[in-house]
Amino acid sequence: MTGIQVERDCDMHEMTLAEQMLQIIEEAAVAQNFTQVRTIWVEVGQLSCVEKEALRFCFSAVVDGTIARQARLEFIDIKGRGRCIQCEYEVDINTLYAACSVCGSHAIQVIAGDEMRIRELEVE
Ligand SMILES: [Zn+2]
Repeated sequence: MTGIQVERDCDMHEMTLAEQMLQIIEEAAVAQNFTQVRTIWVEVGQLSCVEKEALRFCFSAVVDGTIARQARLEFIDIKGRGRCIQCEYEVDINTLYAACSVCGSHAIQVIAGDEMRIRELEVE
């Protein structure tokens, strides 16, 4: 299975994210009839406010006794990318409040890197 967006916002605790991930995985297990998860590849945007090591810790706590208890968590970093509303260039951004590297405007619309999603599961 591929590409499932995990809902999140910056006030959300990693424990809540971990519980959501588990819920998504368990729903997929029912739908696709698998009983073990070996590896979970998770895309984490640079602008997504997700603390990866905190998420890893929380996830290992919530999967205890579930089909994902032996799963390995692999993070894939997604760079922050935005489109400047002022000059219309696309630029790399490290934070949500970054300035455009071309014209210096702060009016930047985020186009990538503000999300977290499960890219792929290796299951059996
Ligand atoms: Zn600009």
